[in-house]
Amino acid sequence: MILIKDEDSVRQPLKAVFPGKYIQGKKALNELKYLTELFGSRGLLLASPSVVAHVLPKYQFENGWDWIHIDTFQGECCREELERLVAKVHQDKTDVIVGMGGGKVIDIAKIVADSTGIPVIVVPTIASSDAPCSGCGVIYSRDGIFEGVHYLKMNPQAVLVDESIIAQAPTRFLVSGMGDALATWFEARSCKSSGSANECSGYATHTAMAIAHLCYKTLLKHGIQAKTDCDLFVTSEALSAVIEANILMSGLGFESCGLASAHSIHNGLTVLEETHTFYHGEKVAFGVLAGLHLIEAGIKEKDTVYCFCESVGLPTTFEDLKMEGVSRDRLMEAATKICHPSEAIHHEVKKVDPEKVLIAMKAADAYGRKRKYIHIL
Ligand SMILES: [Zn+2]
Repeated sequence: MILIKDEDSVRQPLKAVFPGKYIQGKKALNELKYLTELFGSRGLLLASPSVVAHVLPKYQFENGWDWIHIDTFQGECCREELERLVAKVHQDKTDVIVGMGGGKVIDIAKIVADSTGIPVIVVPTIASSDAPCSGCGVIYSRDGIFEGVHYLKMNPQAVLVDESIIAQAPTRFLVSGMGDALATWFEARSCKSSGSANECSGYATHTAMAIAHLCYKTLLKHGIQAKTDCDLFVTSEALSAVIEANILMSGLGFESCGLASAHSIHNGLTVLEETHTFYHGEKVAFGVLAGLHLIEAGIKEKDTVYCFCESVGLPTTFEDLKMEGVSRDRLMEAATKICHPSEAIHHEVKKVDPEKVLIAMKAADAYGRKRKYIHIL
């Protein structure tokens, strides 16, 4: 068979990025000492205050935690904290850094490692997003206002996921991670269909597309059971599968396949104060639903995704995101941000504008409300 390549596929190569090592298991944290010593001899463990208080005391190595210097994260991934940690790395001659906790600790550990040229080991204690495996970190002001994204030269050298720790975290984190992971396949499919570049400025490999699809299938198969098990604080096959989907498959999928409408809609929703108490993945999930209306997806697919969101507790209506009273003007403000030229929504096959996006968001809300109403009857 003769393959005819279009112009774009000649211009841009296939690209994919991965963490150096990925380890996941019930007591995976027991491997941290060995793993750290594999990369260096003067380690720095940067941990969130809750990790220092509740997680570290539960894990005792031969000599306690004496083999690594522990520093408590000051709470924000901002310039000031970055400067403090970079100075500390230089002063202590640190040669490997471990970031342990939620998204911001992980991001700052990755950025400090990248800035100082040392390896980083990422140890997420919640599975709320696909950030752990990625090659970027988000920088905020000291007051928590978004400032920019730092792109690393390499993805993390190792990602270590202890399922027992994640099972102890509030279920809402896991569900939010499912919302983020839910977007992976739909955004990958959009980028592939429109010939758009992925997050590493290349085209998606077959490998990455297969991972993105597996991510979606894994959520549908195990999502509900994983939520139930996490509610009971127990590890299980389903929870393990969803942790892998949220952290590994979604991480590989979004970077190596690309983003599209779901994440742009998330970004736009952040202008509405009403949504500020919701997690990244919760807003992304609604972005997936609105994105399906935007591309006029088939009814079967829409129902499958709505059913999944309803089953695990992801938002399907404006009311679920506390934005039922938002005026048309403010919705249009969000829709305008969603359609900013820099946004990934332009990776969709169809040409979009703020009016179309506003209609799609309203349609997503109406469909969600209708389904809830039918369930009540
Ligand atoms: Zn995301």
